[in-house]
Amino acid sequence: MKKKLVLSLGSNLGNRYAYIRQAITYIEECFAAACVCSSYYTTPPWGETEQAQFINMALYLETPKSVDECLTQLQAIELQMGRVKTKKWGPRSIDIDILFYEDSQVTTEALTVPHPYMHERVFVLKPVCDIVPNFVHPVLNITMRNLLLELEDDSTLFCN
Ligand code: ADP
Ligand code: MG
Repeated sequence: MKKKLVLSLGSNLGNRYAYIRQAITYIEECFAAACVCSSYYTTPPWGETEQAQFINMALYLETPKSVDECLTQLQAIELQMGRVKTKKWGPRSIDIDILFYEDSQVTTEALTVPHPYMHERVFVLKPVCDIVPNFVHPVLNITMRNLLLELEDDSTLFCN
């Protein structure tokens, strides 16, 4: 049985668009699946604000892989793309986060799904609404569209 996987991608180092496009290519190869992609958004940095703006986007695909397998493979893609561990919220060539895996709730040391902060961040929710606006958050029990409408994060995004 294939599962619905929703990912958030971000880059704020080097050629950000190229990193995002390369990551999508690797993900499609690795998962042997076509991704539904959101628009790309230029967004102000989060947390550590003295750094370059991010390009953020979201994508949706279906996969028979387990959620742990998904994380392992996405982390391998991050490493393959030269992501170096720096400080939390610091600059990164590519960040790939799992937002949703079907309606699953996962809390392990390695993984929290649904992503614990996604519903607070406009740079995550806006792209997600491009691709799965009617997806219901399995914990909050509210659609992506309504989460975005209720969001208090008023930072400005630019759609590329
Ligand atoms: P962040 O995405 O919060 O900026 P990192 O990308 O550096 O941080 O991820 C740090 C760790 O977060 C990873 O090693 C991974 O095991 C863990 N993690 C927990 N939940 C998730 C998730 N939903 N998606 C991706 N990584 C996650
Ligand atoms: Mg991450």
